[in-house]
Amino acid sequence: RITIKDACKYFGEIKALQNANLTIKSGEVVLIIGPSGSGKSTLLRSVNRLENLTSGDIWVDEDHVTGVNSDIRKIREEVGMVFQNFNLFPHLRVIDNITLAPELVKKSDKKLTKDKARELLKKVGLSDKENAWPNQLSGGQKQRVAIARALAMEPKVMLFDEPTSALDPEMVKEVLDVMLSLAKDGMTMMVVSHEMGFARAAADRVVFMDEGQVVEVGKPSDIFDNPKELRTKRFLEHIL
Ligand code: ATP
Ligand code: MG
Repeated sequence: RITIKDACKYFGEIKALQNANLTIKSGEVVLIIGPSGSGKSTLLRSVNRLENLTSGDIWVDEDHVTGVNSDIRKIREEVGMVFQNFNLFPHLRVIDNITLAPELVKKSDKKLTKDKARELLKKVGLSDKENAWPNQLSGGQKQRVAIARALAMEPKVMLFDEPTSALDPEMVKEVLDVMLSLAKDGMTMMVVSHEMGFARAAADRVVFMDEGQVVEVGKPSDIFDNPKELRTKRFLEHIL
């Protein structure tokens, strides 16, 4: 469960988040849409404390992410994040990209970690790429490795910030399919994406953000076919 209460984030004069409120249940998949600059990335980044809120509170289950005494390392273990540009470690082979954090942070047994990494590579359909270097992979393959790497920490929730927007169109589906299977496995997910097909297939709810606020929340069919707020309507006219 993720609880976001009155989240505000200011960068000087810029109000990236203005009293954003959202609760995501365990196992729920929430898609976040909204214009450029509406605060989508800032909201996601605040959930694993890549950004510190100016005011407001965020909890992941019982853990108070924004608390002054919160354990950032524990939060980063619980909250996996996948970015637009993959961010793989270029000097590490695929398998070592995946085992690095569990070995370092969790001090897990090497053999177990490697077995787990192989399982994850199988899950994302890349068993044959275990020893490849990141620069030998396509964009879609890199992103699937990035997802496997995040999952290796056994997170409670996964955040995806435009995971397919840097990909060539023919690679979008292979990444969305991995995300869809994660969703079906019951992972709690916050996904910033404008992939409507994925939204309809996988999202329990869609959140429309504008000017740092959560403007409207609803089932995908409600938001896409029957938005209540004028701002949502206007935005959807642009992208649909
Ligand atoms: P996009 O769709 O373009 O990715 P977004 O909805 O993810 O946009 P954010 O990246 O969250 O938007 O940005 C929200 C606002 O905060 C924008 O006005 C942005 O310029 C500003 N902002 C974000 N990060 C910073 C930063 N580190 N320093 C200053 N301003 C920032
Ligand atoms: Mg963004």
